[in-house]
This record gives sequence, structure tokens and C-alpha cells, in this order.
Amino acid sequence: MHKPTHKQNLRSLKDFDLKEKTILYRSPYDIGVAEVNGEYVIKDDARIKATLPTLNYLLDLNCKIVIITYVKRPEGVDPSLTTAPHAIALSKLLGHPVRYISDCIGEKREEAISKMKPKDILMLENVRFYEEEDANDPEFAEKLTQGCDFIVFDGFPQAHRVNASTTGILEHLPSCAGLYFESEYNALKDLVDDYKHPFTLIIGGAKVSDKTEALYNLYSGVDQILVGGGPANFFLKARGMDMSASLVEDYEIDPDKVEKIKVPTDLVIGNSLENPTESEVVSTKVPIIPNNWAALDIGPETAKEYAEIIKQSKTVFWAGPMGMFENEMFANGSKVIAHAMCESDAQTIVGGGDTIEALSKYCDVSKINHVSLAGGATLDFLAGKTLAVVEFLKGDNK
Ligand code: AMP
Repeated sequence: MHKPTHKQNLRSLKDFDLKEKTILYRSPYDIGVAEVNGEYVIKDDARIKATLPTLNYLLDLNCKIVIITYVKRPEGVDPSLTTAPHAIALSKLLGHPVRYISDCIGEKREEAISKMKPKDILMLENVRFYEEEDANDPEFAEKLTQGCDFIVFDGFPQAHRVNASTTGILEHLPSCAGLYFESEYNALKDLVDDYKHPFTLIIGGAKVSDKTEALYNLYSGVDQILVGGGPANFFLKARGMDMSASLVEDYEIDPDKVEKIKVPTDLVIGNSLENPTESEVVSTKVPIIPNNWAALDIGPETAKEYAEIIKQSKTVFWAGPMGMFENEMFANGSKVIAHAMCESDAQTIVGGGDTIEALSKYCDVSKINHVSLAGGATLDFLAGKTLAVVEFLKGDNK
């Protein structure tokens, strides 16, 4: 596998005199929301908590802090995907007022920034309300930096993206990595610089498309790949199994990269994909799932086998739960893998929100060497890809 060199460190907060500066803070707040009693609240506060050290550091220096992020994938302005709930959650966790405005560029922004005093925090609106964000429009990126002196970049989960609010803004202002960004980067860098074998990759969750590319990229560096969840369904189908009502995404299979992939020998199936009330264990030797039934977890034999492989490994990376673990009937696979990860002597890394949730439900997260709050960026990093943003945060500032 291509081994990137990580000799050059990231520029960090301590390298700059940021006293009383107006900081554009690129946050990692791409956090989904849920409606509770008619109000939107963020689903998970781990990414907000992770940014508190950087924000407290900047507050201590009397900085004015202007926060940007994108949230999910709105098509145009979408009232269910504003950053208002994120501002409320941040304010509560930080114990400091956070003002929200309903735009990220233009007059409203200009006026709000001009009125800021030291230690004021301003949350701008979801940058993805503008299509210029994804298009990495340089004019839009420049507008996102207006009124600010310096960028502190903490959006590690977004570090693989070439967007206006990621690489785009970094073209316009001097910058450094925030403390959260640095902690993710340094932990993963140490690991990539020194993979120990056998290296096992465990891929689950619902979607195949966002993980399979990274799986293919990592392929040559890992010794085995264990699949559960949607990816298991996908590879079982590719091997000729009729998956009936199971979640199976359409995706291109790379015939040269299947040998190391281990598919489940048994599955827990449910009597519907949406609302299962009954479950059964079936062997994948019988290549057909009954009509309307869906594969919703790896079976007990597979879970045991996967746990044994984890025990024999020296590096293990787990991304994506093994099944629909939110329903107790389909939680066993994730539970067994979580225990095996926590008991393992290997270098263990866990990535992605749902996987962390599954892990913390069943065991002590502190037993894992690195828990990454990023999904795609972490997979890309582990696969030896250069993260677009990282290139901007190294070397001398222009
Ligand atoms: P992801 O964001 O792709 O990691 O997906 C996490 C979600 O995948 C969790 O909410 C699980 O309930 C769901 N999931 C895992 N396995 C399955 C499966 N076999 N069928 C349907 N959903 C699944």
C-alpha cells in the first residue's frame, strides 16, 4: 500500500499570536437533527464537545469567533437543516452565549460581525444552503472569509472535501489546525506510519457506497475485511444470494478486490425491513432469504468467528454497526464485535457516529486506542490518501 509521509507537522494554535483576532472557525458540526416537541435538536453532541478546548482557548485570548459549517445535504434553503439547533447546543455545552444568524454571507453577516465584541461567538447559517459551497466557488469562499483575520480549522470529518468552506476558504486567509483536528490527525498519523499486521478491517452500517471505495483503497494494506450490515448484504448478493427485502445498495463490484472479504456464514433475518417483529437465524449456505424478510444482523456463528479474528489481529479498524443494533433482536453482532474490540490487545480504531454509539452501549469506549468522530475522512486517511485540507494546514502560512 502507498505509505504517505507525515513528516511535516500541522500548523497549530500555539504557533500564532491570535490575541483579540476575529477568527473564522471552521467547525465539524455536520450533525443531524431530530424533531422533539416541535423543535429541532441535534442528535449527538460528541462533535460539539470535541471542539470545546479550541473554543475555550480562543475565548481566553479575547478572540471574536465566527463559526461556519455545513449540515447534511439540503437542496437550497431548508428550515429543517439550519444551524440554529447547533448554536443552542454549543451555547449550553460551552456555558457562553452563541448568536445565530440566518445567512452565512452578505449584509446580515457583515452587520453582525461589525457589532462583535471580544469573546462574542457568532454561528453562521448552513453553508450548503448555497450551491456554490459544493462547487467550491472561489467568490463564495472569499465571501465566507470576509471580516475575519485568521482561520482555525477543526472540521476534520470534512478534511477530505474540496468545498468552498474547506479548501476554498484556506486560499484566502492564514490558518492553522484546531486542537480537535490535531488530535484526530496525530492519532491516525501514528497508526498509518506504523501499521501492525495482521490488520483487520470491519465494515458495516447501512450504506455501501460511502465505505466501499475506501475499502477498495485500503484493500492492499489489510489482511482481511469482515463485513456486516449493508456491505454484507451487498457482497452476499454479489455471490448469488437472493437477499429478498434486505437493504442492498447498487454499487460496482471490483472483481480483483474480493478475495480478502469475508462474508457472514449466518445471518439474523427479520420479517420486514422497516418494522420487524420476528427474527430468525439462517445459514448463508442456503442462498435465499424468505419473501419479504430482510437480513438485519450477522448471525451468532459469524459474530463468534469475527471475534476470534479480532483476537488474532494486531490492528483493527471498525466502521459501521454489524446490524440494526437499535433493535435488540438485531444487536448481538454489534455487541459481540464491541466486546471483542474492547478486549483486544491490538491497536484499535473505531470511526463514525453510529459505530461509537454501538460501542458505548456495550462496553467501555476508553479501551479503544482511537475513537474517530469522522467517517469518510478517517477511511481515506487510513487508505493512504492525502486529505485535501491537510495540505493547506502544513508548512509556512502564506
Ligand atoms: P451508517 O451510517 O452507514 O454507518 O449506518 C448506520 C445504520 O445502519 C444504523 O442505524 C443501523 O441500524 C443500520 N444497519 C446496519 N445493518 C443494517 C442492515 N442489515 N439493514 C438495515 N440497516 C442496517
